[in-house]
Amino acid sequence: MLTPIKKPARRRRYPVNRIKQSSSYDPGEIAKLFGVHRNTVRHWLKDGLKAIDDRRPILVHGAALKAFISEKQRARRQKCAPGEFFCFRCRAPRKPWGNIADASWHTDKIAKLTGLCCVCDTAMHRSVRRADLPKFAALIDIQPMASERLRDSPNASANSDFNKDRSHVQDQPAE
Ligand SMILES: [Zn+2]
Repeated sequence: MLTPIKKPARRRRYPVNRIKQSSSYDPGEIAKLFGVHRNTVRHWLKDGLKAIDDRRPILVHGAALKAFISEKQRARRQKCAPGEFFCFRCRAPRKPWGNIADASWHTDKIAKLTGLCCVCDTAMHRSVRRADLPKFAALIDIQPMASERLRDSPNASANSDFNKDRSHVQDQPAE
């Protein structure tokens, strides 16, 4: 069953309803069914799509295919708001535990935030553009990692970007 999406999806939607639960499919058939390259199907097989067994040709049960694709689309639809991370264990956007995230500069422009899922304690990561940091800092407690020498960043204001004024804790629309 397809759930309608409110906003038009930028990425391809797969016709999940065309999968016959009781049939099995080889990678070529899957590629044809979804209009994707066979390499994409190979990638899916590495990425958790379960084949029926180890024998050749590889066959995937329709039910497994349907579950995999549905999950894939569900994960895609769930966009994280600022202050949220996508937890791969929960497969849902989650707030970090204690609203705390560690931050390090990945590049001059990108900061990497790490927090623990408030539900399952799994480490969650998110890259944030410098320009978006204030939005995050308004919502969660961003702690520069002790080992990071943020002041070495070419921009002297780098440190303060992590600690922007948090008085305006209003929900700002996600981009
Ligand atoms: Zn989780």
